[in-house]
Amino acid sequence: MNNSKLDISKRLKKYLSPQVFDLLVKCGIFIEENSANLFLVGGSLRDILLNKSPKDIDLTLVNGNSELVEKLAAYIGGQIIFKSQFFTYKIQVKNSVIDITEARKEIYSSPGSLPEITSKCSIDDDLYRRDFTVNSMALSLIPSKFGSVTDPFNGINDINKKQIRIIHDNSFSDDPTRILRAIRYSIRLNFKIDYKTLSKLNEFKNNINLITGFRVKNELIKIIREDSRSKILLSLHNLKIFDIIGLKININNQINKILDTFQFKKEYTDDLILIGILTYNLDIENIINITEKLYLDSTYIKTLRDTQEIKLFLQNIKLDNLNNSSIYKSLNPYKDEAIIINSYFSNTKVSNKLNLYLNKLKYSIPPLNGSEILSLGAKEGPRIKEIINELLYDKLDGKIKNKNQAIIKVKQILNS
Ligand code: ATP
Ligand code: MG
Repeated sequence: MNNSKLDISKRLKKYLSPQVFDLLVKCGIFIEENSANLFLVGGSLRDILLNKSPKDIDLTLVNGNSELVEKLAAYIGGQIIFKSQFFTYKIQVKNSVIDITEARKEIYSSPGSLPEITSKCSIDDDLYRRDFTVNSMALSLIPSKFGSVTDPFNGINDINKKQIRIIHDNSFSDDPTRILRAIRYSIRLNFKIDYKTLSKLNEFKNNINLITGFRVKNELIKIIREDSRSKILLSLHNLKIFDIIGLKININNQINKILDTFQFKKEYTDDLILIGILTYNLDIENIINITEKLYLDSTYIKTLRDTQEIKLFLQNIKLDNLNNSSIYKSLNPYKDEAIIINSYFSNTKVSNKLNLYLNKLKYSIPPLNGSEILSLGAKEGPRIKEIINELLYDKLDGKIKNKNQAIIKVKQILNS
């Protein structure tokens, strides 16, 4: 093993968890025994060369097939949790997930269309279909070559120069989503976009309107999940990318600030909140246009609609004048994410009330349940639900403090 291989092995150990490292070694052994070849590729290798832990593990299998992937999954005690017709697989082993693609060649018949894909090719062919030099390297995982790096486009040199560079002149015309990716990576990694790449990016940026809304949505979601989302969006805005796609997204100082202060919370769907923030200031036609263009599903549509309804409601009603039960009744029909979006755009008083609902009021439970109310002499029917609600509202407003007071209230209702 030469020095650079030793160095890479050390880095793999440093930046991968021991479980994942052992898993990759094991995969390499099995694949070599089966006369195939296995590489660590893409962002995983790029990040390790940048002295970072990769977000996910991307592997490429050469000379294999789906049967071999299935055998490999069994050998490492894992399960295939996803398989697509494009020769890609996800294997889960305990709490680790690895992405495997069979090496493939892609042929683009027209700009922006989905490529024709053929498997059964070399690692060099596979690297040639990728987006940027820094993502187009491969590291051997089979024991006889463990740690040797294939770098046909001088990706290591570009890592050292901190630059994003396409690997051939047609890259952006073949797949214009790479324009969005180039900007995302350059800002995430703090790399510049190489001069020629930038000129090709400008030459082909109008092709962005050729990609399907579904693919734009996927890239947009990746962008809003980045820490530097506001910088990326601003850069896309300055390049007029949203205008070209036909999305009316206003990026301004207020939105940027909100995007920068945004914090992920595991109980909510962050993507909904972030898209809601981006579209908050738009009128309803533009919002509908975005949901249609990007094929956003019904959860998005409901969240964005709720957001606008709450916004209108807050313009007309002073929330801090309302008692708790009225706040509860007003906000209960809406999605939590729509309430959070509004809280980002509200003054402190209003946002405190919205948070009071989200953190406390929303979780209040009625002091008595249906069967308890029946046992007090109520008759079955829709009235029971109404009584339960009345009890809840009184509890929220502090009029009922315990079960006994609730029982007294029910008796009063039944006797009236
Ligand atoms: P991240 O760190 O965000 O996961 P990544 O580089 O691993 O970044 P993925 O989206 O996981 O990106 O894709 C894995 C690899 O697949 C990329 O590194 C790249 O080589 C290749 N790839 C993904 N999308 C494209 C594309 N549109 N065109 C060419 N290659 C792509
Ligand atoms: Mg990745």
